[in-house]
Amino acid sequence: MAHDLLVLNAGSSTLKFALFEASEARQTNEGREATHGLPCLLRGEIDLHAPAVQGHDGALAAVLERIDRQLDGAPLAAAAHRVVHGGEHFSAPVLVDARVLADLHRLESLAPLHQPANLAAIEALERLMPGLPQIACFDTAFHRGQPWVAQALALPAAVTARGVRRYGFHGLSFESIVAQFARHDASLVEARVIVLHLGSGSSLCAIDKGRSVATTMGFSALEGIPMGTRPGSLDPGVLLWLADHMALDTRAIEHMLYRESGLLGVSGLSADMRVLEASSDPQAARAIDLWVYRIGREIGSLAAALGGVDALVFTAGIGENSASARARIAAAAAWLGVEIDPAANREPRPRISTSASRVAAWVMPTDEEGVIARQALALVARHPRVTGRGSS
Ligand code: AMP
Repeated sequence: MAHDLLVLNAGSSTLKFALFEASEARQTNEGREATHGLPCLLRGEIDLHAPAVQGHDGALAAVLERIDRQLDGAPLAAAAHRVVHGGEHFSAPVLVDARVLADLHRLESLAPLHQPANLAAIEALERLMPGLPQIACFDTAFHRGQPWVAQALALPAAVTARGVRRYGFHGLSFESIVAQFARHDASLVEARVIVLHLGSGSSLCAIDKGRSVATTMGFSALEGIPMGTRPGSLDPGVLLWLADHMALDTRAIEHMLYRESGLLGVSGLSADMRVLEASSDPQAARAIDLWVYRIGREIGSLAAALGGVDALVFTAGIGENSASARARIAAAAAWLGVEIDPAANREPRPRISTSASRVAAWVMPTDEEGVIARQALALVARHPRVTGRGSS
């Protein structure tokens, strides 16, 4: 009987994978909570730009080879994928078929760095393992319960009716942080928390009692704070100006906004925070100053949406690894009552604020793959025929 679940998180430059043991006995006997501690048998990451790797097909073939060795030839039960944009229709994990795939392709222009890569992995896996059940889990789904004002754009109703509204992203990451609250501090479960997902793509989420109430990214993966190569929120007048005065068409503007802006655009040096922090170039310092300033302002905005803040949580590549970035952001939020303990921040300990700090500050590792596995198994448990496991 096939038991194991392959999780794929396919980005534009890397393919992250994880293999989870997901035996039927574990699900039925231990219930939903047990899936939080789902055993991970194998985890890794393949650089899609490495010379030996030939696109998604080549990377996937390498992953499947490793998995085959690990499982000693036993078949997989299913595969589950991170899909960045679920649009209006997909607010929960879904079994992928040709119609679902066609719907998801229509959302590509809203996340051009990620959605095509996510779907390429699904299609490559269908070629390599035809008939394997594949489940899509969405970054947008965590935000679908937000109040309508947080999801709305003040545009004509006819435009809104076509799905032009705020969706929010990084939901799988935010959900993985919420899943850790009880383990760290029971009071976080009921608290008003701002989670800062700071990686090459970044967004902040206001979470009240475990639910998303507001987030900095909206319709596309461009809104909010500056990122590695994206500018974050812009006056829309800038786009009109670029079209009128620099004669840029939509594809050229898209390229500028997704690939040439943010930390890279301002510094002229790199999108990588490690490079900027190590640089003595004044433009690198300005890029970081602008990034910190904009994050500080968004913290204020999310604090207003929450009506106060009890805790900040830092996560993802920069949030988990840069003590200096955390210290500077905490200083920008000092007016809220955030006080960092420098020694705890350097280590870092999970809790990095002083005992006197009115707002607690934490560092927690994101685990998108773990959330994808849990969501996919919950779907399989509801529909056992997906993996041919049950007769019920
Ligand atoms: P992610 O998208 O979450 O994988 O984050 C990737 C980004 O994290 C990289 O582009 C780096 O800018 C940043 N990063 C990783 N490690 C460090 C570090 N030790 N210090 C500062 N930034 C880091």
